[in-house]
Amino acid sequence: MSGNTPSVTPEVMLAFYRRLYPFKSIFSWLNHEHTPTRLFTHREFAFTLPGDVYLRYNSFNNADELKKQVCNLNPTRFEIGPVYSARPKDKKTVRPAAFSPQLRELVFDIDMTDYDPVRTCCSGADICRLCWKFIAAAVHVLDKSIRDQFGYQRLLWVYSGRRGIHLWISDKEAMELTDEQRKALVGWMTVIQGGKEMHKKVNVRQGTKPLPPSIQSSMRFLGEVFTNLTLGTQKCFQKREGWEELLRLLPSGATTSALRTQWDEGPQRTSAEKWNTDLGERYAALGPPEHDIMKAAIEDIILQYTYPRLDAEVSKHRNHLLKAPFCVHPKTGRVCVPVDPSSIDSFDPEKVPKVMDLLDELDMVPPTAAGETGEHHSDWERTSLKPYVDILDKHVLSLMEDVRQRKKQEPNMNW
Ligand SMILES: [Zn+2]
Repeated sequence: MSGNTPSVTPEVMLAFYRRLYPFKSIFSWLNHEHTPTRLFTHREFAFTLPGDVYLRYNSFNNADELKKQVCNLNPTRFEIGPVYSARPKDKKTVRPAAFSPQLRELVFDIDMTDYDPVRTCCSGADICRLCWKFIAAAVHVLDKSIRDQFGYQRLLWVYSGRRGIHLWISDKEAMELTDEQRKALVGWMTVIQGGKEMHKKVNVRQGTKPLPPSIQSSMRFLGEVFTNLTLGTQKCFQKREGWEELLRLLPSGATTSALRTQWDEGPQRTSAEKWNTDLGERYAALGPPEHDIMKAAIEDIILQYTYPRLDAEVSKHRNHLLKAPFCVHPKTGRVCVPVDPSSIDSFDPEKVPKVMDLLDELDMVPPTAAGETGEHHSDWERTSLKPYVDILDKHVLSLMEDVRQRKKQEPNMNW
């Protein structure tokens, strides 16, 4: 950790929860309506307290109760789980059979550490503006393919506070997915598979058959990502280790042997020269069977270096807990803010507000008419947290409109 790492003290956290955390927006997002429903009252909250104390199966009647308990416990963070068949706080008193997860946003987690094999700028917990572009590319691909292939529309992207991004899907049909269905869906979306020992991590087709249409539709965009990141900023094939990895992914044969010799003799050739010129010209000269085999290999390599890398375990089970939006990352002090996918390319994690800066901003502005004694329900409006809460509130309006429309069609509807 560098010397200027902020220390997020319990006092800072408490002030943040009291004055800035948008409890009302979070409540409405989980509840889809103004009046509390089971979507909120039967929802699990889990608190992480300093010293790694973990409190599960909390539930609350409304936003004020949640705020009261958060301020009381002052957790380092809290997580959101599923809607259960009974109130989670009553878990100990209901029969086990009467306590099961029923509904849950479909969630996805993309973490930069999964990109270590395809990035050269950073590794582990570190990120920078260069490798963040992989996350931005993942947002583009997933946002589009989830909307196009599954028809979901209520997507909320949330920066995880350090090195990744979460996606919460709140469409009714997504909330109702069973674990089996979630597993199938994630399997369908998983393109990169296998551990360190497996070099080739893309197996999405038989032989040299064309890619499935769902993946084919992203290839043009991923090709640009490959050019800009893999060949460009990341220079993945610049060093021996990198080009050896590339050669292992190409079909063995005369082309690959010739490339190995050429790069042994001219190791300084850039990644773009190696890919576009050295491989590209040989590929163009290949005849039918070899050409098709090479085409499939090249597409698979582009996928392996650019396709979104999902942490599948997070998405498969309804009872998986995921950090609530607007929590504070304890190491960076940054708030886990919602992100607009249409401006993800200009999103800079380094510019996300830190909790101490937000509190400083509050101290700079004059008190509101209610004075300092009033309840701080929307002090965030006076800070640079506002645009991020606005993203959530706009999303909430669309969820509420969905419920309104459904109630018009089925007046007795109840989740
Ligand atoms: Zn980096």
